[in-house]
Amino acid sequence: MTTSNSTARVAIVTGSSRGIGRGIALALAAKGWRIVINYNSNSAAAEATRADVIAAGGTALVVQADTGDLDSLGALVDATLAEFGRIDMLVNNAGIAPRVRNDILQTTVASYDEVMGVNLRGPFFLTQRVANEMIRLVEAGVIVAPKLVNIGSISAYTSSTSRAEYCISKAGMGMMTKLWADRLAEFGINVYEIRPGIIATDLTAVVKEKYDHLILDQGLTPIRRWGLPEDIGKTVVAIAEGLLPFSTGEVINVDGGFHLKRL
Ligand code: NAP
Repeated sequence: MTTSNSTARVAIVTGSSRGIGRGIALALAAKGWRIVINYNSNSAAAEATRADVIAAGGTALVVQADTGDLDSLGALVDATLAEFGRIDMLVNNAGIAPRVRNDILQTTVASYDEVMGVNLRGPFFLTQRVANEMIRLVEAGVIVAPKLVNIGSISAYTSSTSRAEYCISKAGMGMMTKLWADRLAEFGINVYEIRPGIIATDLTAVVKEKYDHLILDQGLTPIRRWGLPEDIGKTVVAIAEGLLPFSTGEVINVDGGFHLKRL
């Protein structure tokens, strides 16, 4: 743990030991934010992210918590408040693909429950707890204009019949973003959803060759390259720094133009 008396703003980034979450953590740290680095099982990766945050001059607290386990999410919030006394931003980033890509005709209850639990149920109730803490902190004058960011996916509207449970979880996150945006606006809490396209991380490493071909050879995305965790990090920084003050419930596509319908 790192102790700090600084008044710098604090962000919880779930799933920031690797991939997109790590990119978000490093981008925020470079802007002076204090980061709560959350991971599920890869403590070595979380420590490596912490080392990089510190090397960038930042401050980080590493907390293990499983977004599929509501008790551990409560402990994540408790640890954040005990260490820093404030939460200025929550980034619901942690997410999983199904362990096995099964055709929708064979989707198992176990896989459905696991993916929905980690990707949607956990983020919903973590948001609920954090929102209540933010309201309290805003009313106490400790924080101003806190923000919630959900990392959704192009899978919210793109059918992949071999991972239905993933698509449904991300579609649900789309409505979750609208609901919290509607409820929290009166407290000055804006809510945003970022929809990454195809981003180079461990999650997509298993389908690298397939997407290399689709993106680089066939132009699946108008911008013919893989997305990078830094692309998402930059977008979160724009939100974090208050550059979108009159937008809430907004979806920001960070997908190289994947969402465009083309003829
Ligand atoms: P990744 O490389 O697999 O990294 C996943 C991160 O989430 C890791 O830090 C992992 O922690 C953490 N995590 C996994 N399960 C968790 C759990 N139950 N509780 C807490 N943390 C957990 O994935 P990614 O590609 O960065 O994806 C991040 C988010 O972006 C996900 O929500 C994903 O759906 C979304 N997304 C990704 C893409 C893409 O192309 N990569 C596209 C659209 C949306 P450990 O290190 O401990 O395992």
